[in-house]
Amino acid sequence: MLNMSRRQFFKVTGATLTGSSLTLLGAAPSPALAEVRQYKLARMKVTRNTCPYCSVACGVLLYSLGDGAKNATATVMHVEGDPDHPVNRGTLCPKGAGLLDFINSPNRLKHPEYRAAGSDKWQQISWDDAYDRIAKLMKADRDANFIQKNEKGETVNRWLTTGMLAASATSNEVAYITHKVIRSLGALGFDNQARF
Ligand code: SF4
Repeated sequence: MLNMSRRQFFKVTGATLTGSSLTLLGAAPSPALAEVRQYKLARMKVTRNTCPYCSVACGVLLYSLGDGAKNATATVMHVEGDPDHPVNRGTLCPKGAGLLDFINSPNRLKHPEYRAAGSDKWQQISWDDAYDRIAKLMKADRDANFIQKNEKGETVNRWLTTGMLAASATSNEVAYITHKVIRSLGALGFDNQARF
């Protein structure tokens, strides 16, 4: 007499039924089970960017859900070092390797904010309002403090009361143009976080 527990019975009959059904349908289970699983990043969109943390400016690849479906919101699912980037050649330090948490953090600031003088609260404003405000403040400060000539009467065209720090995630071309724009206003205090 076959000596089999209830659990073993269901296991054996279930496997036999599955196997015979697949065979009847023309699909042999062994090759199907042996098939290599699809590479999970294969359908993702890859975007090149720069790690925002330090001036080493390592190149990163951002993998996001990007199959083009209208009802799918693209989300960054994976971050790794860019093997073609001359700075890091695919490597990332622990901070850069943890970028995914920073990207998806609920505390990440995604909009400009403004705190009125004397207030202890920040309020979200639009990019248009932010740019208008920055432009007005820059003009007012430049008009008040621009130095055309030094004490010897030599033309210097300096603006020393405002500085600018540019972000790391820029291409060489964007960094070059940013440099030209801020220097054309006469500002001397200028730095870029990334230095390649
Ligand atoms: S991965 Fe590390 S070393 Fe490279 S830019 Fe980011 S923080 Fe700096």
